[in-house]
Amino acid sequence: MTNLRIGHGYDVHRLAEGRKLILGGVEVSWDRGLLGHSDADVLVHAVMDALTGASRLGDIGKLFPDTDPAYAGISSLKLLAEVGRLLAERGFAVVNIDATLLAQAPKIAPYRARMAENMAMALGIEPERVNVKATTEEGLGFTGDGSGMAAHAVALLEGLR
Ligand code: MG
Repeated sequence: MTNLRIGHGYDVHRLAEGRKLILGGVEVSWDRGLLGHSDADVLVHAVMDALTGASRLGDIGKLFPDTDPAYAGISSLKLLAEVGRLLAERGFAVVNIDATLLAQAPKIAPYRARMAENMAMALGIEPERVNVKATTEEGLGFTGDGSGMAAHAVALLEGLR
């Protein structure tokens, strides 16, 4: 039987003034950015949790504790590359990733392809294996009123041994 493993990831960060907005490793032009210990890239964090979930590596809080000064301000793409290395070490290949950003604004469409490419590059996989999409939430809730952003991701892995 084919050894396929699915994982789901979810993350939330608060929006704050005086921070850069980094999503999928792309600096998005906006008047606020996400607050967090690392670069607070909510999209990459959800993707990492989907991957660690599918591979039973736990979660990113366990792998990269936010109490560790080594991860202060770090690019989340670097952490994603480390997750990719751990997956390869355990004999997993990424079949595909689908990620959804929940944000009222700004418009993400112009950046989607670069976000997917950045994450694919960090993982050393083909860009067509990663999909990024976004939705507003009709002004409802914390994503709708602009106090934060959330992201969901699913990942499918194939165990090669
Ligand atoms: Mg996070």
